[in-house]
Amino acid sequence: DEAKQQHLRVLAYRAGDDEHHLRQVRLMGLLRHALELQEFRLVFQPKLHLVTRRVAHVEALLRWSTPSYGEVSPDEFIPLAERSGLIRAITRHVIDASLCQARPWIEAGLVEGVAVNLSPMDLVDPGLPAHVGDLLRAHGVAPASLVLEVTEHTVMRDVEAARDTMHALRAQGVRLSIDDFGTGHSSLAQLRGLPVDEIKIDKSFVADLGAGSGDSVIVRSAIEIGHNMGLTVVAEGVETPENLAILEALGCDMVQGYLFAPPLAPAALVEWCARRRSRAVEA
Ligand code: C2E
Ligand code: MG
Ligand code: MG
Ligand code: MG
Repeated sequence: DEAKQQHLRVLAYRAGDDEHHLRQVRLMGLLRHALELQEFRLVFQPKLHLVTRRVAHVEALLRWSTPSYGEVSPDEFIPLAERSGLIRAITRHVIDASLCQARPWIEAGLVEGVAVNLSPMDLVDPGLPAHVGDLLRAHGVAPASLVLEVTEHTVMRDVEAARDTMHALRAQGVRLSIDDFGTGHSSLAQLRGLPVDEIKIDKSFVADLGAGSGDSVIVRSAIEIGHNMGLTVVAEGVETPENLAILEALGCDMVQGYLFAPPLAPAALVEWCARRRSRAVEA
């Protein structure tokens, strides 16, 4: 009987596995046409200076809506775009659309700049730095107003290639951020050789702050390391006043998370900024 149960479990697992595989294959096919069908859109989530609570940058986050599968999360489709090589075109589209969208916000003083996420393959795309320069000129956006976020995993996958691309991007004047910091086991020595302006502490560490566990060694040392290296330290995934209070006590520079705003459609972001400005004192 036990053996039979086991057999059924295996079958169920395989069925689930096949279903998952089928979904991946189908999504991959749909992804090929997503750009031309204009199925992508961007939402923007503010990053705030912790002390003044003023908006620093907005991070562009990609959304994909398909007729057959509805909303598909970037955590699912970005890896597919990576594997299929589509990511390069998608990244270029995201940078282009983000600059186009954010330019009037920057000019109006609503935001300091816009942040865009890069994928591993982008860091081995030798044409990317020059392309970024072209896009900045075409949109008339100052390079320092563009932040490119690269995860720690991405950098560590091929440190040599990443370093070259990052230096070339830096030469264009853009700022670079290490996203999901703390999850990639990079050493201080490796980090030191990279032209980085900012680190973003991964939300998994931020979520624990104040939840009975007080502050976390990881968050505390990330802030210390960042400051010792002259970097701006951002905490992502700030959801509660307890999270915020501890980050404030530890001297974190910037915060981002649902406590302030979720990723917002362009019109909603502008409204959010206007509402914040009309308030005299911020909580
Ligand atoms: P990320 O860059 O680390 O972005 C942070 C993720 O956390 C976003 O999920 C955001 O919506 C979510 N988030 C924001 N505030 C909170 C919070 O307070 N609590 C929690 N639990 N989550 C919060 P999203 O938009 O689903 O994106 C997931 C990941 O997909 C991103 O992680 C990024 O690595 C990737 N991604 C998104 N858009 C793009 C893109 O245009 N290009 C590339 N290459 N990757 C992208
Ligand atoms: Mg990011
Ligand atoms: Mg992150
Ligand atoms: Mg992430």
